[in-house]
Amino acid sequence: MEKHISGTTGLFTLLGTPVGHSGSPAMYNFSFQNQGLDYAYMAFDVKKEQMPEAIEALKLFKVKGSNVTMPCKTVAASLVDDLSPAAKIIGAINVIVNDDGKLTGHITDGIGFVRNLKENGVDIKGKKLVVIGAGGAATAIQVQAALDGAKSISIFNQDDEFFSNAEDTKEKLEDETPEVDVDVYPLSNQDLLKEEIEDADILVNATVVGMKPLDGQSLIDKSMLRPDLVVADTVYNPLKTKLIEDAEEIGAKAIPGKGMLLWQGAEAYTLFTGKEMPTDEYQAYEK
Ligand code: NAD
Repeated sequence: MEKHISGTTGLFTLLGTPVGHSGSPAMYNFSFQNQGLDYAYMAFDVKKEQMPEAIEALKLFKVKGSNVTMPCKTVAASLVDDLSPAAKIIGAINVIVNDDGKLTGHITDGIGFVRNLKENGVDIKGKKLVVIGAGGAATAIQVQAALDGAKSISIFNQDDEFFSNAEDTKEKLEDETPEVDVDVYPLSNQDLLKEEIEDADILVNATVVGMKPLDGQSLIDKSMLRPDLVVADTVYNPLKTKLIEDAEEIGAKAIPGKGMLLWQGAEAYTLFTGKEMPTDEYQAYEK
C-alpha cells in the first residue's frame, strides 16, 4: 500500500516515556492506511513535567488526538478540558481527543478489558469479580466493570503503596455505582481469597506478577481454580502467564492480556476516527 503524507495529513501522537518500544505507531498507521484515512501517528518521548507544554503543543499543532502512556496518565488528566465518566472517577487518561481545540480525556483500559471478555463470550453484567491488584490497570478494570453492571467486585492487594488506591476506588464506586458491592481485602489473607474465589464468576490478575521478570509466578494457587471460573490476566508479556497456563490445565476459560491491549487500542481508534479498527487485518499483518 502506498504511504503518503501530505500538507493536509492529520496527526495523532503518543506521549509518555519510554515510547520507543511501543507497538501503537505500527498499529495505528497500518489501520489508517488500511482504511484510506489521511492520518499519521508518531510517538514523542515526553516526561511528566513536560506534559503541560506537550498539551499546549497538541492545541498549537491541531493534533487530532493522542494516546498517553506511563508515567503521564495522571498528570494528563489534570491538564485536559473535559473527562469521560470513567476518567473522572479514575483520575487518569490514556486517550485525548482534540475537538476543535477542546481536549477531552478518556481511559480505554477498562473498556478494552470488558471488550476482550465479550470477544471471548463472557458478559460482565451481573457477575461477581475477584480482582487482584490496585494499580492503574486494576483500577481501570474495577471502575469499568462497575459502570458496565458487574454485581460485585472483591479487590485483593498486597500491603504496599497501591493498597489505598483500592480503598479510594471502593469509596468512589459507592458514590457512583451504589448498586455494586465493592470490598477490599489484604492479599495476605489467603483463606479469604479462597472463599471469595469460590463463588466468583471472573478472576482477574491485574498485578505485575506473571510479567517479566516475575514470569513463571502466579499469586493464585492452582487449587483455587475451577472449570467454570473465567480466569483473565492483564499481563501480555509473556503471552501466557503461569496463571493462564494453570487455568487452561484446570479446564477453565483462560483469557490472556493480549486481547485487552488490542481492544483498548481499538477503542481509542474509534474515539479518534469514529470507525472500528481493522483488528482482524492488523492481527493477520502482525503475524
Ligand atoms: P501498577 O504499577 O500501576 O500496579 C502494580 C500492581 O501490582 C499493584 O497492584 C501492586 O500492588 C502489584 N504488585 C507489584 N508487585 C507485586 C508482588 N510482588 N506481589 C503482588 N502484587 C504485586 O501497574 P499497572 O500499570 O496497573 O500494570 C499491571 C499489569 O497490567 C502489568 O503487567 C501491565 O503490563 C498490565 N497492563 C496490561 C494492559 C493491557 O492492555 N493488557 C494495560 C495496562 C496494564
